[in-house]
Amino acid sequence: MKILMFGTREDEKQAALDWARRENVEVTFNEGPLTMETVNLLDDYDAVTTSQTAKLDDALYEIVARKGIKQLAQRSAGFDMFDLDKAAEHGLIISNVPSYSPNAIAEYAVTSAMNIIRNTEKIQRKVREHDFTWNKSIISKEMRSMTVAIIGTGRIGSITGQILKGFGAEVIGYDIYPNEAAKSFLTYTDTLEEAIKDADLISIHMPLTKDNQHMFNAELFAKMKDGVYIVNTARGGILDTKALLEALDSGKVAAAALDTYENESPYFPKDYRGKEIEDEVLLELIFRDDVQVSQHIAFYTETAVMNLVEGGLNSAKEVVETGTCENRVN
Ligand code: NAD
Repeated sequence: MKILMFGTREDEKQAALDWARRENVEVTFNEGPLTMETVNLLDDYDAVTTSQTAKLDDALYEIVARKGIKQLAQRSAGFDMFDLDKAAEHGLIISNVPSYSPNAIAEYAVTSAMNIIRNTEKIQRKVREHDFTWNKSIISKEMRSMTVAIIGTGRIGSITGQILKGFGAEVIGYDIYPNEAAKSFLTYTDTLEEAIKDADLISIHMPLTKDNQHMFNAELFAKMKDGVYIVNTARGGILDTKALLEALDSGKVAAAALDTYENESPYFPKDYRGKEIEDEVLLELIFRDDVQVSQHIAFYTETAVMNLVEGGLNSAKEVVETGTCENRVN
């Protein structure tokens, strides 16, 4: 069996080589994404795994299927870059790796929350300027005095809530499907509005769907407590970034940590040193010291990368061998 691995990064290669040896499968690396330019490489392969960050070109589903490929095995939990209906129309199975290490993202969400609450960015800037004073602009709150709202209490949200409970925070949660286990460390509210109205910190952990695009908008910010902290390690599109900037300017939001940004795909995870960034909103996010912006990196731990590589390759192989796979999403 021959599998083509699109979007291969250097840090993924060893895990892929170890898997290929163990499973007796030939794996070929390609550093670029699956595009109209690279799709012809599939001619010699039985299966494919991708690491797409931008939306897949609509024309590709038909071309991939025509080449006898039965699936696209994405190496991430998110699969919003695929049109599931279009894939199904052409008999293509889309799979993800739903749970490769929720702890990785949860720990980053907590780290980000602590950074914005403790003003670490501002403190470091002052130290670099040799301003060693203590003053009101860098005084912090303590997590144990805060009410934290977890929006989306699935795998990642639950672990985030549990860690923050360990810090002594009061944890509340909102989810369209509350889970029993989470009730041991958080209190559910019936609506999103109830969850956000008394929260000092809001951490977002739900998937981006057709229904929650810009769910965090000016209207919702207006219902929050003054000086609320917001952490988004889920998907940028859930949050209206321009409305967030206005809420930061007015003081409604004290600070935000964004590991995802709604228009991130031209930039994350690419090297833009020496190149011009045309996105004015992204430039403002990077420039502000009440925003911590990162390059969709919350997942990026050694454990997570190994699990993602193996998860993608396993699904690709499973479809070839059985005609379906456990992690199919369409
Ligand atoms: P999960 O499916 O285990 O949990 C998501 C939860 O959100 C579910 O309980 C679901 O019922 C709930 N939900 C869905 N729509 C909702 C809505 N409109 N309102 C409230 N709750 C809603 O998923 P997970 O593994 O915890 O991952 C959560 C998200 O984190 C993913 O969808 C992905 O977008 C994001 N993620 C980010 C990174 C990163 O590196 N930043 C990495 C992995 C995942």
